[in-house]
This record gives sequence, C-alpha cells and structure tokens, in this order.
Amino acid sequence: MNKGLWYNPPMQNDTIAAIATPPGVGGVGVIRVSGQDAFAIVLPLFRRPRGKQTLPASHTLTFGHIIDPQTQEILDEVLVAFMYAPHTYTREPVVEIQGHGGPLVLRRILHAVLASGARMADPGEFTMRAFMNGRLDLAQAEAVMDLIESETEAGQRLAMQQLRGHLSEQVEQVRHTVLGVIARIEASIDFPEDDIPTPTAPDLTPGIDAALVAVRSLLAGAEQGRLYRQGLRTAIIGRPNVGKSSILNALLRVERAIVTPIAGTTRDTVEEVANLRGIPLHLIDTAGITHTDDPVERIGVQRSRAAAESADVVLLVFDSSEPLAELDQRISDEVEAMGFGVLAADEEASAHKRPLLLVLNKSDREQHIERADLQRRWPNATLVETSTVTETGLQPLEEALALVALAGRNLHSESVLVTSTRHQEALRQAEEHLRAAQGSIEQQLPLDFVSIDLRAAYDALGEITGETASDDLLDKIFHEFCIGK
Ligand code: GDP
Repeated sequence: MNKGLWYNPPMQNDTIAAIATPPGVGGVGVIRVSGQDAFAIVLPLFRRPRGKQTLPASHTLTFGHIIDPQTQEILDEVLVAFMYAPHTYTREPVVEIQGHGGPLVLRRILHAVLASGARMADPGEFTMRAFMNGRLDLAQAEAVMDLIESETEAGQRLAMQQLRGHLSEQVEQVRHTVLGVIARIEASIDFPEDDIPTPTAPDLTPGIDAALVAVRSLLAGAEQGRLYRQGLRTAIIGRPNVGKSSILNALLRVERAIVTPIAGTTRDTVEEVANLRGIPLHLIDTAGITHTDDPVERIGVQRSRAAAESADVVLLVFDSSEPLAELDQRISDEVEAMGFGVLAADEEASAHKRPLLLVLNKSDREQHIERADLQRRWPNATLVETSTVTETGLQPLEEALALVALAGRNLHSESVLVTSTRHQEALRQAEEHLRAAQGSIEQQLPLDFVSIDLRAAYDALGEITGETASDDLLDKIFHEFCIGK
C-alpha cells in the first residue's frame, strides 16, 4: 500500500524519546527511543552482565542495567530491545527499554536518555515519523489512534481493518480510476500536435461512473462506521428520583453512579460506556433539569442541560408510580425545545429531529401515571416500561435504543470501511466533484472544466490517505495522539 514518501518531511535528524506506557504504576514501563542516534544514545547507558559489548541481535530482548551517565548510579534493571531500521514502527532505528513500571524510575531513565542527546517526543511523533517515512499512510496512522481508543470489539475490528490498509486500498483504487480519466483528457489538451483524438463522452463517463459508484458505496457504510467509532451519546433525563441512575446502572450492569433515595443527589453528570451490540453507548446520567437555588445543584443542572444538548438520543424517564408532575412537563418541554422528538415507526432518524425514548420506570409499583396524557402529547411514542428492581423491561429498552440508533442506517458491518467524520467529509467532496464532472460532460463544456473537477475529486480522496493533506491538517491529527505513540 505504501509508496514511499508522500509528504516532504522536515529534517528528522534528531532522535526522540518518550515514556510509551501510561502514567501511573504498572508491572513494566517502556521508554521508546527513535532516530538515527538511538543506539548511540542508549548503548553507553546500558550495562550488561560480564561487561558484554557486542550489539545484540535486532528485535531481541537483552538483560542489563541502565545507569545514570553522570553518577554511574544504577537506575533500574531492564530488558532492552534494539531494533534496526527499517523494520521498526518508525522505520528509523528504535530502542525500547523495559523498566519497572514506577513513574519515578521511568522518568529517571528518560532523563538519562534525554541528557545523552535525545529530544522529548511530541504527542504522536513516533506515528508521525512512521507516516513521513512511508510506513503508514494517514488513514492507517489515524487507525492506530482508533485502535487504542476503541471501546467495543466491533470498533476494534474496524480500526484494525483500517490499519491494515483496507480503506486506503479502496481509496487508492478510486484515485487510480480518476487519474486514468484525467490522463486521457490532459494528453489531448497538452499534446494537440500528436494527433491524440479528443476524448468524447463515451470515453470518459465509464471511468467517472465507476469512481462515483465506489465513492458512494464507501459513503453508504460511513454513518454506521462513525457510530461504531464514536458511539452514541445517550442522555438519561428526568426529574429527581425517577430512577435515572438506577437505569444507567442496569444498562451498565455495574454499580457506578451513587443511587440514593434523596432527591437531587446526582448533582453532576456521570458518563459511562455500555456496549450496545458493538456500538459504544455513552450513557450520561444527568441531574434533573430543574430550577434550583442551590449553587452546587445549579452547576449540575447546567451541565445536564449541556449534556442533553450534545446527546444523540434522550431517554426521558418518568416514575410511573406517581401522577405526572408539573416538573415532568417542564422537563419534557425543555427536551422538545432542544429538538428531540419521538420518531414515528416508519420514520427515519432525520437531521431535524433527534430521537427521544420515553421510559416509564418503577413498573413494579402500583401505577398512577396518566398514560393517556403522554400518548396525547406523543402519539407515536413507544412507552418502554421498566423496573430496575425486578429488572424487567431492560431488554426491550436496549432493543428500542438499538432501533433508534440504527434507524436509517445501512446495517452490514462487513461493508463498513469508513468510520471517521474526516474521511466521510472528504468522500462527500469527492462525490460532489465527480458529479460536477459528469454534469460538465453532459453539458458539453470544454474538457478543461471536466479536468478541473476530476483533479478536485482526486485531491479530496488524497486527503484520506494523506497524499494531499496540508501540514496544518497533519499537525492537528497527530497532536490528538498521546505522548509516546
Ligand atoms: P434518579 O434521581 O432519577 O437518578 O433516581 P435513582 O436512580 O437515584 O432512584 C431513586 C430511588 O428510586 C432509589 O431509591 C431507587 O432505589 C428507586 N428506584 C429506582 N428504580 C426503581 C424501580 O424500578 N422500582 C422501584 N420500586 N424503585 C426504584
């Protein structure tokens, strides 16, 4: 998949180093060093038993000690891997030092490495080097991040697929097709004296059509892909004490939010991730959206309002053992004002309305809620009845959630290759330019016009793999990575 340098790398003569394992205490911790001088920097710090001097074989672990270069103090007992270029993560010489996983130990080893001539790596700089040295393209580099952050197996599978280059391959194929059409046009424009016949519509349209079909098929799975990668933000909303935290816990099947019988105790919002058939369900338990004079509660209320505003789905929870309260009405009004609504059974999740699910909790108790009032207000609503005490209705709740989450999305996870908004946007642009090219041919505009549209489509697709990505975009993408990756 990789075709060497795609991007003019800045000088990479320096050698970078960082702690590659997460902060905190662990069994082992890893310091990663990459660059031309990686071996020269680490070797003098590394003492092996019986004073062995030879360089160990590539990609093997060698036992020894790391010493402080100034004081000769032994800092840690370590295993070190020397990895020869180009068969490394960055394609540069890489050394990984496995020490004991204590923050102080690792920091001292890192300092010794930095004092010996390495520079502290920026976030994502190892992966950026892998990209600049042509080991990964941009979509693959982004997949590294997705893989690390994946929250469900489905998400992980998609990230791995992208890391292996499946998306890049498809995108490159489309670019190749588009380039073929551009070449035909430009040959006739650039070398008129060579008697190259001017291509006609039947010469050009099959290529453009094929590219459009491929782009559209990639776009078809994109919404679903995004769902697997980004998850579904679900706000659980209702007045205090209706059972929001209990529902969150039931969906997570672990006790995390504090459940107490005192109204208004969920002062802040709690966010947890449940696995809804492979989709990371980001559950946000919110303090009831109420008006309150308590300053701490007021902050909680503001946060829950913000949480609801950014949610994809709202679970509006009622206590069915009590009649509807004035506060239930007010919260319902507020949620509707934010643009949430009940979707009719045959309606697809549209851009105008974000789905709202009505949950009647405490179904184990004597029922006093006025269902007719709710049905009058939301004629199409499915009222999901739950009891977190007897654990009834939770399965139907999950099913209802899955249904609204996936409404209108083409669901065959095998066909999903696109999972990021950035890629989706680039594909949409490519689609638009390809359509414009088709239009120019139909209107018999000069071939220059067609060529310009096709170039734009070609470039838009190149942004996915990084071939035509700007430095700003690259910076932005790699800075979202963690240090040491
Ligand atoms: P929140 O304020 O909306 O988050 O409500 P909580 O989850 O803290 O629950 C409030 C109270 O209602 C607690 O005492 C729960 O044990 C109780 N509760 C929650 N769900 C149910 C239910 O389905 N049935 C019954 N009987 N009690 C429930």
